Amino acid sequence: MHIDQEIKLDFKDVLIRPKRSTLTSRSEVNISRDFVFRHSQAHYHGIPIIAANMDTTGTMEMARAFEPHQLSVALHKHYTDDQLVAFFAGLKLKSTAFYSMGITRADFDKFKRVMAKAGEHIEYVCVDVANGYHENFVKFIEKLRVEFPKVTLMAGNVVTGDMTEALILAGADIVKVGIGPGSVCTTRNMTGVGYPQLSAVIECADAAHGLGGQICADGGCTVPGDLAKAFGGGADFVMLGGMFAGHDECAGELVERDGRRCKLFYGMSSKAAMDKYSGGVAQYRATEGKEVLIDYRGPVDLTLQDIMGGVRSACTYVGAHKLKELTKRTTFVRVSQQLNEVFGRG
Ligand code: 5GP
Repeated sequence: MHIDQEIKLDFKDVLIRPKRSTLTSRSEVNISRDFVFRHSQAHYHGIPIIAANMDTTGTMEMARAFEPHQLSVALHKHYTDDQLVAFFAGLKLKSTAFYSMGITRADFDKFKRVMAKAGEHIEYVCVDVANGYHENFVKFIEKLRVEFPKVTLMAGNVVTGDMTEALILAGADIVKVGIGPGSVCTTRNMTGVGYPQLSAVIECADAAHGLGGQICADGGCTVPGDLAKAFGGGADFVMLGGMFAGHDECAGELVERDGRRCKLFYGMSSKAAMDKYSGGVAQYRATEGKEVLIDYRGPVDLTLQDIMGGVRSACTYVGAHKLKELTKRTTFVRVSQQLNEVFGRG
């Protein structure tokens, strides 16, 4: 029996130590990033925050709200060919939307059909599976890279350096990191498998950067400070589900519960999602996601301001003029308590 004795950390286990700074105002901080991707050689310029490809948050409405701010949305995979073709053809900034898919034959056939019609408009692609450790997954990324050398490929999810390297060598430009930290994920309860998210980010970023690749920290951010910690730990992109849920731009109706206006938010492996898309939960599998009712939060614009403001402010505390400098200027301190909750949370 091997037990890794080194302590691994989650966002809640650390804070970022302030550092001397010459910055006088948050408005001096630039939180956009520029990348040239290892395989696609595409030039990216934008704010590297991505809405998750869950069918509640990964919507075209969300992408339209994000485009002026230069953030991205990974579209969920349940749009029809025609919807996708029309949407991508109308995009001004290509990095606004990632085409998402899994690795089934049907996923690949659909992608080829859509690329045949709108290929010149689709530059960003996200391929994800719950368990990125499967040999078939690596093979799929290799195949995709050969057939589509110019797309920028984000692939995941994994949580360790070895698999990050394997995916980058197979053809991924960005490796998506996170198994089990998600707000509506129950993988850790159901399987006992996972890895504390901040340590996963630090270790995978190190592995990816050594090969000229990037990573996207996916899952587990609950407040803007968690994004600052993810970027501080080396994440190039951060993906958010729960923090973008409950807004006008999310799919789903407003419902009333105990006098509160709410929206349904659910994991993509929850019973709700399987009932909707796969005709129920197959007998051999358990659900690894849950459903929650989130208080309705209005238009996503205000939330965006909040998140971007938090990250900017984190940069001023450590003297980072640009988001790129945040990692170098981050020293984490381990803590046993983060917040004073005497008057409640938030
Ligand atoms: P959040 O930002 O809400 O904490 O995490 C979002 C991420 O949770 C998604 O990008 C995805 O990786 C993960 N996720 C979404 N649905 C499910 C699910 O049903 N099960 C699991 N294990 N993870 C999920």
